[in-house]
Amino acid sequence: MSEVLVSVEHVSKSFPGSAGDELRVLDDITLDLREGEIVALLGRSGSGKSTLLRTIAGLIGPTRGTVRYRGDELDGANPGTAMVFQTFALMPWLTVQDNVELGLAARGVPPKARRERALRAIDLIGLDGFESAYPKELSGGMRQRVGFARALVLEPDVLLMDEPFSALDVLTAENLRTELMSLWQRHDFPTKAVCIVTHNIEEAVLLADRVLVLGTNPGNVRAEVEVDLARPRDRKSPAFAALVE
Ligand code: ADP
Ligand code: MG
Repeated sequence: MSEVLVSVEHVSKSFPGSAGDELRVLDDITLDLREGEIVALLGRSGSGKSTLLRTIAGLIGPTRGTVRYRGDELDGANPGTAMVFQTFALMPWLTVQDNVELGLAARGVPPKARRERALRAIDLIGLDGFESAYPKELSGGMRQRVGFARALVLEPDVLLMDEPFSALDVLTAENLRTELMSLWQRHDFPTKAVCIVTHNIEEAVLLADRVLVLGTNPGNVRAEVEVDLARPRDRKSPAFAALVE
């Protein structure tokens, strides 16, 4: 059995409601993210997908239950994860290079190593030549590439993505999705598991080994689907090309 990297155990999350009551967003969610797998969290808008992903990242704490990384209960940010956001969340006053280096700086990586790692991530994700550009000079697709570089440069065990392609036009999304799968397939970055939030069922089935469907009010896992299309994920293969057409 492959190693469990992240475990979510009976997690519930409530927010204060507008009428002084509580808004229950997640209800008793239990799931594992294991080495080697891509898991999609699928659900309607408002079903708590982002809340669950943020809880896994340790950006917010659960109201009840536990999130563990390699067996250790989280105490703040999850050190094994990095996140890609729907609307990129880049720092507009920083260049591509500085955006990518920011998280490394926060983790105390010295400047020279920071620079080298950032340049590698920038190259990997197809941003070569854009190191000195500012986010406003880039297209949406290129901005999200910066979002990916910024996450991958941290070499997280688990890459968390919150609707990473939904702000992009269809063709751009498809290109980036296919490139990402190709990098994943070739082990071009050391990430061991991916968790992607999406409301797009095709995307979920195309990318994931396992799809968890979140129900609404309050969000809990309503269904779990193993995806086994026995499909090659190498985009150079005709079978893969046919799938993403
Ligand atoms: P999804 O990503 O599936 O669209 P979210 O996790 O963003 O869903 O939100 C689920 C519900 O939780 C929504 O009703 C949203 O308004 C509410 N919610 C999310 N974050 C907060 C917060 N920080 N404070 C209060 N309510 C929140
Ligand atoms: Mg969301």
